[in-house]
Parts: sequence; structure tokens; C-alpha cells
Amino acid sequence: KTFTKNDVLEKAAEYNVKFIRLQFTNIFGTLKNIAITIEELERALEGQISFDSSVIEGVVGQNEADILLYPDPSTFVIFPWRPREGAVARLICDVLNPDGKPFAGCSRSILKKNLALAEKLNMQFQVGAEIEFFLFQTDDTGKPTVTTHDQAGYCDLTPVDMGENARRDMVLTLQEMGFDVSSSHHEIAPGQHEIFLKDDDALAMADSITTFKFVVRTIAQRHGLHATFMPKPVSEYNGSGQHLLLSLWQNDSNLFYDESISEGLSKTAKQFIAGLLEHAGALTAVANPLVNSYKRISANDLAPILAGWSEGNRSTMIRVPSWRGPGTRAVLRSPDPAGNPYLVMSAALQFGLDGIKKSLVPPEPLAKDIPAWEIKKVIRQMGLPRNLEDALRAFRQDKTAWYALGEAISSRYLEEKENEWERFQSKVHPWELEEYLRNY
Ligand code: GLU
Ligand code: MG
Repeated sequence: KTFTKNDVLEKAAEYNVKFIRLQFTNIFGTLKNIAITIEELERALEGQISFDSSVIEGVVGQNEADILLYPDPSTFVIFPWRPREGAVARLICDVLNPDGKPFAGCSRSILKKNLALAEKLNMQFQVGAEIEFFLFQTDDTGKPTVTTHDQAGYCDLTPVDMGENARRDMVLTLQEMGFDVSSSHHEIAPGQHEIFLKDDDALAMADSITTFKFVVRTIAQRHGLHATFMPKPVSEYNGSGQHLLLSLWQNDSNLFYDESISEGLSKTAKQFIAGLLEHAGALTAVANPLVNSYKRISANDLAPILAGWSEGNRSTMIRVPSWRGPGTRAVLRSPDPAGNPYLVMSAALQFGLDGIKKSLVPPEPLAKDIPAWEIKKVIRQMGLPRNLEDALRAFRQDKTAWYALGEAISSRYLEEKENEWERFQSKVHPWELEEYLRNY
């Protein structure tokens, strides 16, 4: 998998590649790219393609600065859906300043920085991802709707509709691109699907998740459908989560597993979990970045609503499945697919490490079922933020969060997101008219 610049040049020639897309993400996780022709590839691999930083969304404010795209050769892949003649390939890039140092607004570089800090403690962060999304029809003009013809539910086989075929095509395409797809299934809501990507190094996983969304949207479009990663597109249905399976490794041993204790879950794992819970508010601001994210975080949606942990309770932010040995994982259930995976993983890692550094002890794990009469009380005691504003406030006050994302990204992120909240807050929504117009 470790590819050098020469490997890239050779492969590009062998497959008759004509265009290369240089991809990078802005701080909100949106994939951007510029296309170059094959003649420019060598220059690009040397990090000599420069352009103006305003595409990375702010950070430098009004001042335009030159930045460089520095491709990571190991991310070279050919798009299987493009013609074989004159093929199109992509490379994921770090964004650098002209002096070769990472650009402050580059979230991929931020994740690398955080992983290097963990590496200093001889720890490697592994992440798997269960990504949920909806497939909807488009209208006559090609605009996405929230209509689905699919009536299937959890793990259903029938009806084999357009959604099923599209999902099959997505999995095959992802595999062709080198993805390790563990499984895929129909999710609970009509039109909702899930694809499970096997654990990988955090950086590779963040790259994969970003690419995943682009591939899924592309293939959906080819089936006349729209794939959406919006966290909660339909009021009546479950939202879409992006559960992350976390583990911390020291070379070949999983630090979350300890065979010397009967339950098998190591002290390190518990401290890591305690760290995540301690910083739950700030983590939510990154992992649930939209106004809409908070419509998913609800007691009725099988989505987490509590800053707690458990073995089987789906309302908690962290679930530790019964798998032990090298398969020991803490499943972070709160993230939704709208988050920037580079930043979500940066925050989760630093919060977990903070728990280890401070030897934090997590509260007792929550029981499998919290009776309906008790849930409101428990939410009052340990609920996750219920809206974007509360989450952003928690982030603002969290030093570890600023440290994890860096000053430049943190301040820019908060500024943009606080504006987003204000825009939402100042609008009168249809629900208000229905509820109040007649009575007041
Ligand atoms: N859709 C749920 C969520 O938003 C998860 C359902 C499941 O457990 O897979 O997190
Ligand atoms: Mg699921």
C-alpha cells in the first residue's frame, strides 16, 4: 500500500491516465479538487502546484495567500467509473505553505499532527466506520427529493429495488478502489443504507471516509438517485449515524484489551472512554456539526443522547461490544456523517489521550435498558448538547479541543458555525406557524 512517487508515475503510464484530480478537504470536510493533466503529474508530485488559499474556507480571512498541494502517493487510485481510455485518477493532498510547513487550515495535516503526538507515546489509533446514508429519488429536473420507492427495513432482502442495486454497485466500486468493505445492509428506515469499512489507521480511514462519500454520491447519481449524508432528512425516520470503532494499539497489541482482568477491558480503554465522556460537549460540536445534526440526537431514534457508556444501550454515546482480544473496541456512536472525519478523529484521539494522561475513571456503564419513565431524568443529568449552540459553547470552553484542532481551525470553525446557528435561529420555521399562528 505504501506507494512512492515513481510508483505513481509508472501506474499512471500503465493505465493511460490522462487526468489527475488533486483532492483536499476544507475545514468543514467538503472535498475539493483541481484537475491537472498527465503532463503536470511529475511537477505535482514534487508539490509544485500552487493556488490561492481562499478555497480552503477562511482561516486567512480576506487575505489571499498562496498555498501548495502536496500529494500523498499512497492515495493514488483510478476512478473505476471513468472510461479506461484516458483514465482519471486522484491523489489526496496535504495543503502546505510556500515554505513547506503545513497550512494552518489543512485538517488532514492537523490529524497527522495529532497522530504523531500519539506516536510519541508509542500509540497508534485505529478506526473502523459504519456509515449510514439515504438514497432518494430525484425529480424531473434532477433535484433531490426526500421520496424513496423503497419500503425495506433493517437488513431486509426484498424488494430488490433501485436502492439495492445502487448499493451493490457502490460496494463493488469501493472494493475496486481498494476499500476494505466489511459488510453492507439495508438500515432501519426506508431508503436508508449502511456500509461498514473495516478498521484502518486513522489517517487512512479519514481519507477513506472522505472518498467514500464522493464515490457513493457518484454511483447513486448513475442510478438516477441522490445519496445524502444529511444527518436527519425525514422527521419520521431514524437519522443517519457514522459510528466509529475506536482502538489504540502499541505495535501489534490492542491496548484496549487486558487478558489479566476478567472483563478484558483494559484500564487504558476505560481512561480513554472517560476522556471522551469528559469532553463530550466539545466532541459533539465537531462530530455533529449541523443545525440538523441535533434532530437525530433524540431518544426515539436509536441514536445516542447520553454522555455515558454501556455494553448494549443504544442511547449512550459510547458502546463497548462484547468482542475481546484484538477485536476489543469502543464504538463512538454519536458522530454523524456530516462531520469532517479528520477533525472528528483528531478530537476523539486527544480527548481519549487526555483521559489517559489524567488517569480519569469513567462512571459506571449504563444498564441495557433505561425505563421510559426514567429517561427524561437521565437526559437532564447527562444528556449530550441538544442543539448546535450548546455544543459550540462547550467547545469554546474546552482547552483540549482547541489544542486538538489548533487555534486557526478552532476559531474559524466556531465563527462559521455560530453564524450558521444565528441564521437558523432568526428564521420562522413551518412548525412554528402550524403550532402558534392560530392560537396566538
Ligand atoms: N441510525 C442510528 C443512528 O443514527 C443507528 C442505528 C444502528 O444502530 O445502526 O445512529
Ligand atoms: Mg447502523
